[in-house]
Amino acid sequence: MGDKTMTSAKDYLSPKPLTGTEGTRGTHWLTHEEGQRIWLILDKQDASTNTLDEAVLRELDGLLDEVEKGDWKAVVFRSAKRSGFAAGADLKQFQGIETESEIRARIDEANAVIDRIAALKPTTIAAVHGACVGGGLELALACDFIVAREDASLGFPEVLVGLHPGLGGTARFTHRISPLEAMKLMLTGRTVDARKAKKLGFVDAVVAERNIANAVDTAVDGRLERRGGGAAVTAMNFYPARRAMAAQMRKQTEDKAPSEHYDAPYALIELWEKHGGSLHDMLEAEHASFARLLPTETTQNLIRVFFLRQRPQQNGKGDSGITRVHVVGAGTMGAEIGAWCALKGIDVTIQDPSREALGKAVAKAFKLFDRKLHGAELLRAKDRFTPDLHGEGARHAGLIIEAAPEKPELKATIYARIEEKAKPDAVIATNTSSLNLNDLAKHLKKPERFVGIHFFNPVSKLDLVEVVRHDGSASQAFETAQQFVGDIGKLPLPVTASPGFLVNRALMPYLGEALLMIDEGIQCERIDETAEEFGMPMGPVELADQVGLDICLAVADSLARDLDRPMPEVPAWLRDKVERGELGKKSGKGLYEYDSDGEPQKDRVDGPVTPQLGERLILPMLDAVAFAIDEGVVEDADSADAAMIFGTGFAPFLGGPMHYAKSRGFGNIANTLDRLESEHGPRFRPSAWWRKARD
Ligand code: NAD
Repeated sequence: MGDKTMTSAKDYLSPKPLTGTEGTRGTHWLTHEEGQRIWLILDKQDASTNTLDEAVLRELDGLLDEVEKGDWKAVVFRSAKRSGFAAGADLKQFQGIETESEIRARIDEANAVIDRIAALKPTTIAAVHGACVGGGLELALACDFIVAREDASLGFPEVLVGLHPGLGGTARFTHRISPLEAMKLMLTGRTVDARKAKKLGFVDAVVAERNIANAVDTAVDGRLERRGGGAAVTAMNFYPARRAMAAQMRKQTEDKAPSEHYDAPYALIELWEKHGGSLHDMLEAEHASFARLLPTETTQNLIRVFFLRQRPQQNGKGDSGITRVHVVGAGTMGAEIGAWCALKGIDVTIQDPSREALGKAVAKAFKLFDRKLHGAELLRAKDRFTPDLHGEGARHAGLIIEAAPEKPELKATIYARIEEKAKPDAVIATNTSSLNLNDLAKHLKKPERFVGIHFFNPVSKLDLVEVVRHDGSASQAFETAQQFVGDIGKLPLPVTASPGFLVNRALMPYLGEALLMIDEGIQCERIDETAEEFGMPMGPVELADQVGLDICLAVADSLARDLDRPMPEVPAWLRDKVERGELGKKSGKGLYEYDSDGEPQKDRVDGPVTPQLGERLILPMLDAVAFAIDEGVVEDADSADAAMIFGTGFAPFLGGPMHYAKSRGFGNIANTLDRLESEHGPRFRPSAWWRKARD
């Protein structure tokens, strides 16, 4: 079984979890014998996180030959990685799969290994910590017991990449605990902590590291009761119950992942509905369903999106060293930015001349903390968020973020005051959407420390943050800003200080076209429905209201002024609305009216949603992205795709705007824009990039 070494599980994870003989190391697995027990410890070579790829499973298969021959009382699975037990399959091996047959044999081979674990005679125990998700959890579920360390997080995120579990997880999970709960977790891709997993019944004991060995003892000696889901498992796996619940699940899933765009959740529901009565049948059907999903365009696009995250994640690597942030302006954005920073462990002071705005910001922040945290963590987050009427927090902050109204004179006054108070090495950032950073920088005595940190609305939902450099930004300030964005779990995208940066430049023609459609008498609800059917998370009319019509107007004006391109003309009635203070969601009235919960009051859609209407909305957005790439606002098409997906929620199943354009053919996009130009005017004239890229 490989070379003998002095290494054993105890050298990796804890002071003294194990006693017994030294370990034996293979390539990805360590074995550790301890009386009649054998520990199989996963330590994937050259990786900080365990994933279950073919090499890992093949080596395990070999180890199981030996295990089956021995006279073991127990087999215990563990990981030697601090990051966790195992993060699931290595998605790289799934990229570019084009046919079902290409993958089917590999799936069957991998499952045969997991099935061998399930069939082992000795008691099998998975002792898990950290991330135990996807394939990692499937391996654990093949064991008789799961003992989890307190920090474990468990779940099945496969649905997020257009798949469902494929190593027996769908069948074993729905037969271990209440299938309703199991399906809920698999359908949402949510992970749960160890305690919740125990409550649900698939973790049998939750212990601290020092007690793992004891917990394993109790399982081996037959003193640990397997939890499971009780009578609900059989009752709910009975066909009439499955049929009724499956119908309900389809309905609930439709809202979040419409069936015309996403297959995986519906494949999972069907799998359970049809085969949930038999573990064996469901295992078989699962492999076939997984193999069918993997080559689909949607799944391949979602896997692409998973990898698109990595570049901006890389931009944010490193520690900014910033522990205190001062936010100026507690409106729509300031309140959200401050709350998010405090949630992520930063001490936040938030300044606004309006006591009412500060009160609302505190209420909003506490609501976010209540949703995301509990116990001492929750109290600490509340403690970190301090309203600051006079802006004294600016004296202590490593980063000051200005999120005041979009008025250059006001921002200039604010910078003058901030600079009087700020520490010499503090970075000063603006969240401006539309003002020219090079002009704003002129108002600072030390413009080198000034950058743009442009968050998106709503901050808690959109991961992208554009980090903007003006001509005089120092590299140090720019780097620190990117690292800070990474520190708070967001994705920094470096962009140049061009009008609208990337995302707003792309969104504006889309929002502007929607306004022209309203002008033509097309109902707002119908416009929104058109965009949502395409796959946008929110239609342009509702989005304009959410961003704020004042902000939209400012961005539209700046683009019309500063970009050498025809833009949709802003209708006069929109300016009147902004004048009257009808600013959208934040004022309770904009293009829609809003109820007290901030929900838009929508009527039924009054006309057909046609592809022609869709093209008018979506193609200008694609064209603006192409134009921005051509101008070097972002590095390349992949960065632009990442930005649009993580900054606007652009239909992830299409893999990003440029990936979508590529799949249609750049020539097709250019020709369609030509046609739209002849029908509706020069604002549709295609960017030169399409034809250059086509050449
Ligand atoms: P907002 O009108 O909702 O909030 C601005 C806040 O600033 C108000 O609470 C106001 O009382 C306060 N304020 C006014 N004068 C101030 C002063 N002297 N000092 C401190 N605070 C003062 O505006 P918003 O939508 O949050 O936009 C703020 C900034 O963020 C703008 O630059 C905007 O371009 C940018 N932005 C907005 C969005 C969006 O979706 N709304 C998105 C990204 C960026």
